[in-house]
Amino acid sequence: MKYIGAHVSAAGGVENCPINAHNIEANAFALFTKNQRQWVGKPLTDSNIKLFKENCLKYNFKPEYILPHDSYLINLGHPEADAIEKSRAAFLDEMQRCEQLGLKLLNFHPGSHLNGISIEDCLMRVAESINITLDKTQGVTAVIENTAGQGSNVGNEFWHLKYIIDHVHDKSRVGVCLDTCHTYVAGYDMVNNYEEVFNKFEEEVGFNYLRAIHLNDTLKAVGSHSDRHASIGEGLLGVDFFRKMMNDPRFDNMPLVLETPDETRWKEEIALLKSLIV
Ligand SMILES: [Zn+2]
Ligand SMILES: [Zn+2]
Repeated sequence: MKYIGAHVSAAGGVENCPINAHNIEANAFALFTKNQRQWVGKPLTDSNIKLFKENCLKYNFKPEYILPHDSYLINLGHPEADAIEKSRAAFLDEMQRCEQLGLKLLNFHPGSHLNGISIEDCLMRVAESINITLDKTQGVTAVIENTAGQGSNVGNEFWHLKYIIDHVHDKSRVGVCLDTCHTYVAGYDMVNNYEEVFNKFEEEVGFNYLRAIHLNDTLKAVGSHSDRHASIGEGLLGVDFFRKMMNDPRFDNMPLVLETPDETRWKEEIALLKSLIV
């Protein structure tokens, strides 16, 4: 079964997310559990937590199909000691918020080497950051998102994801989220080589680690390393690519989440994606 949704607004409290997702006829959703542009968020109140859980039950969203995303400020591969400590503390807070809400996944961008260390050293630091956080928490899987490879961001090559996973101690609580826009602009041409790209993912990472998908079309070319999302069918990936994905059982039973630019069209995009399933 395909679980399709969008990264919905948490304005007014996280408890509004399941309502917002229900209103666009989603059966999965993503959210920020705090303001994504601030280091320190207001703690979740008992009321936030209670209402979030109640609304998830009411609208039939299971934790397996809810994909919280961490703050954009966090860099778990930062080359400097003080800065990586700050990121690790913020990441722990993000994961504890997921625990409080009864959620099972936490999606994050691996990090950036900032030209201060090698790619491998940066990936090692990300793995160590994950180890430190998993040791202090329970039940939440760290879900590494592949990136477009803009600037000094790591995570754009499949082997980067595997390198991090290889250095995480608890393999049962680490996984991957593939963003279709990022994958394409990172240099993987799924439009012309759908099977080859996903076979390569299977060889280099493994579908057993795949926990989620970000469904985005792209305005920028394959290999451009430029991250510009487009509405489904309005970019270079196109409807035919998404039809293949919607009918590919390797993407069953995980959150498939839109991060497309025009949120007024999410309901229509979800309906389009569902209509592609034969
Ligand atoms: Zn994404
Ligand atoms: Zn992106």
